[in-house]
Amino acid sequence: MTILSHAFAPLAESLQRAVFIDGRFQPSDGAPLPVTDKATGEVLGHAAIATSVDIDRAVTGAASAQRDWYRTPATERAAILRRGGEILTREAARFKDVLVREGGATGPKAEGEIAASVIEFYQAAELATTPLGEVIPSGQRGRVNLVERRPVGVVGLITAWNAPVHIAMRVLAPAIALGNAVVLKPAPETPFTGGLMLAEVLAEAGVPGGVVQVLPGGPAGPALVEHSQVDMIHFTGSEETGRRINVAAAPLLKRVALELGGNNATIVLADADVDLAARCGAASSFGHQGQVCIATGRHIVLADVAEQYVAKLSEHAAALTIGDPFVSDVDLGPMVSTRQVDKALGMLHTSVAQGARLVEGGTADGVFLRPTVVDRVHPGMPLHDEEVFAPIAPVTVVDSVDDAVAIVNGTRFGLSTSVFGRDLDTAWTVADRIRTGMVHVNDGTALHESQVPFGGTAASGLGDDLGGRSNIDLLTERRWTSLQRRSAS
Ligand code: NAD
Repeated sequence: MTILSHAFAPLAESLQRAVFIDGRFQPSDGAPLPVTDKATGEVLGHAAIATSVDIDRAVTGAASAQRDWYRTPATERAAILRRGGEILTREAARFKDVLVREGGATGPKAEGEIAASVIEFYQAAELATTPLGEVIPSGQRGRVNLVERRPVGVVGLITAWNAPVHIAMRVLAPAIALGNAVVLKPAPETPFTGGLMLAEVLAEAGVPGGVVQVLPGGPAGPALVEHSQVDMIHFTGSEETGRRINVAAAPLLKRVALELGGNNATIVLADADVDLAARCGAASSFGHQGQVCIATGRHIVLADVAEQYVAKLSEHAAALTIGDPFVSDVDLGPMVSTRQVDKALGMLHTSVAQGARLVEGGTADGVFLRPTVVDRVHPGMPLHDEEVFAPIAPVTVVDSVDDAVAIVNGTRFGLSTSVFGRDLDTAWTVADRIRTGMVHVNDGTALHESQVPFGGTAASGLGDDLGGRSNIDLLTERRWTSLQRRSAS
């Protein structure tokens, strides 16, 4: 463990107690929103809780700015997005410091997230000039049918705290590339990296005032869902909030896309490379303290290799260092709150009372929860049935591939699955039977590439996937425009 020693540059005064509307940081009459270092509890600064007046001004301003922005030449939009990528690259060290502290990220996790967000800028720049439509042959003489892909309009973007920069940028960048305006409501835990600091980058890059607005605090979430000038809600967060948003948006006939939680499984087949499976399983269960939607929440292991797998997984868990990632170079940092620690430990204790066996970890010191391995976990136990969102690896041993598939498909979630097996033919056949939005053969569940569609099925999400060309489906609407030539022969 290396001790890190550098000072923390205080957050700019302009970001404090401010909302970002029409290209300017503006003081809000809303109550201050304290933002803490997740490892120490120290208050790093205050965002503002946007008021209903702020929210209405932001939405109205976005609706007006979007009309001009859509008419801005696509090459100009692309150039602004490329500049955004350059500025975020330049600011990476500053972003990393804040992300480590307000987000509870380790240094490598923060660096990876910022790098992924830079890629979102560059990919969005390419999206701005990608073909957006079709010409469809007509049944009428002299008619030309154009199917245009036009921006949805104003996108209300509501995000989670666990990867605040990337969760915002994966939608924000393609949305504005395609001519939308965005009103971003970052999670209350991470309003600086998840919103206000991004606004600085976007303003410097040349995004015109009003095209991106930032409204920290809780009330902006439901208010955006209800606002008549918000054309679409893109939400990343919990299943429970996703359901609530879907219910609120339904009577308004508002377009909604939801990226929700998962209870992702790794299947370890009898012929698996157990070293590889345990290494990837540990990385996917413990990375960012398990607070990742695509984390492995269930390890479904064929009996032939179960003992070996549990031993290796436990070795990985025991070797991981944990502590304040701003002070030392640790493998795991803090959980987002002691409430989350208590919730995870509650699920652990209930499962153990129901017959599960604690193999490694299982203790916490404040917000620091030791990476934990539990076996003899079965359907019906909370560690099996619900998203854990903590560094806990529950293992379920099965006697057959059919049992493994039945258990994996037997939840309401459908985000990511992985399958380990040396015989690719068999592993692929198993993967083929799994009903999740993403399946990885011989790697962990926690994979992401911005050019590849990302999204879940069932209770893990609703609406089009994110990423690459599927962003066009997600963030535009088709319009049929027909042109008639009267002189057609
Ligand atoms: P959360 O649902 O508590 O909050 C998410 C956001 O919704 C926050 O900004 C919050 O202020 C806002 N919100 C809360 N109530 C609202 C309402 N009624 N209307 C509108 N907005 C409201 O989720 P969280 O704890 O911040 O995030 C963790 C969850 O997010 C986990 O379940 C995780 O799996 C999921 N997640 C999913 C993905 C994905 O891509 N599928 C990515 C990251 C996180």
